Amino acid sequence: MRFRETHLVGNRTHPFVTEPKMPQSTDDNSQSGNTTGGGESRIAPPHSDEHVPRDDAKVFQQLVENFGGVLRLEDLSAQETLYVGPGFETVFGHRRQTLMGAPHDRWNMVHPEDRERVVQSYVHNAERGTYDEEFRIIRGDGQTAWIRDRAFPIRDTNGRVYRLVGISEDISARKRAEERSRHHLEEVALAGQLSAMGELVACIAHQITQPLHAIANFAGACKNSLANFPDTSLKDTNRWVAEIDVQVRRADSILSQLRDAVPKRPPEHTLLNLNRLALDTVDHLELEIRNRQVRVRLNLAPQQPVVTADRVQIQQVLLNLLRNAFDAVETVSTDRRRVTLSVERFDDRVRVQVRDQGPGFGDIKSSQLFEPFFSTKQDGIGMGLAVSKSVIQAHHGQICAAWDGTHGPPFEFDLPSRSQE
Ligand code: ADP
Repeated sequence: MRFRETHLVGNRTHPFVTEPKMPQSTDDNSQSGNTTGGGESRIAPPHSDEHVPRDDAKVFQQLVENFGGVLRLEDLSAQETLYVGPGFETVFGHRRQTLMGAPHDRWNMVHPEDRERVVQSYVHNAERGTYDEEFRIIRGDGQTAWIRDRAFPIRDTNGRVYRLVGISEDISARKRAEERSRHHLEEVALAGQLSAMGELVACIAHQITQPLHAIANFAGACKNSLANFPDTSLKDTNRWVAEIDVQVRRADSILSQLRDAVPKRPPEHTLLNLNRLALDTVDHLELEIRNRQVRVRLNLAPQQPVVTADRVQIQQVLLNLLRNAFDAVETVSTDRRRVTLSVERFDDRVRVQVRDQGPGFGDIKSSQLFEPFFSTKQDGIGMGLAVSKSVIQAHHGQICAAWDGTHGPPFEFDLPSRSQE
């Protein structure tokens, strides 16, 4: 079984993929020892130190010249830049000399919409060592790039800050990927909203149709009874009963117009690898995972867990389950905000399970959670699980929350598996 974890170091996310020995259980507690297994790369110690430069300054220079980001050294009292790494020209598209002696020229390169925020943060945080900002710059060639910029103070023997080391990294590729993910999630969310609207209308229509049919039946019974009394004094009553019938049909036709008015996206069934879908979904959620300080662990199936399904709909289900799990762990301390997403193939089915370390759902019957409009959240609509249930059932699968009251509740669905053709 492959597994991968997205975890936090400081306030940054570092995803990594590991190929450990097969974990036997999907239980979080039993897995926690494996999380940092084979994924780390180590720098091998040199066999002899004959190739190691003795001169520390040279080592430092090699380090700086090969460093992917841009290092700079600023003198605080003289307000000048003492050193700017060579990467500056690639990242900022300006000559290094532009900065030497003029540290504040750097701010002119910051995108005007970000400048005020960044300068304020630098003024307040740089000397404390807490300056860490992401912003846009306008490069020398006029292109916009995204930068992560940090600064660390260097103190003299009295503890007074006299220099600042700055590090700038080009994070444009990450920002572009985040933008793509945001766009993708918006598309899936829109499809989900349409499904929820469809579900909502279907539910309302179903609830109203039943009493309407009862009214129509009673009206029919009245009409039949009145037929036994061809008394002209009951003429008005006959007319009213007929009018009830007309109004019931009218309400019925409004309901079907309402059903037709909800835009529908016809399902597109394709061969879908649920390992791939799980990885993609977690990748798309990376920003949200980081912001909500959740650790997501992925247990992937060793055999190809392929199903025939509508990708957007199944991803919507996965997103619903993951976001519910993120909501659930919000109430616990950050070190316990763990969510495990497992994909498993057994016999002729593929099972996907999302389990969190949240408080669970107490005495509530698990079937109730899947009913439309059931929500315990202050701003919840209660349609996520109801829509997920419809989607999974339409794919000939099942969805449930089989919680035994211990650990976090596992929300899981299964679908018929397909061998890859
Ligand atoms: P909403 O998120 O709008 O409340 P959902 O249909 O997605 O609607 O969820 C319905 C309810 O199910 C939630 O309000 C919550 O009470 C419960 N629930 C869902 N997922 C979890 C979970 N992982 N842990 C505990 N309760 C959950």
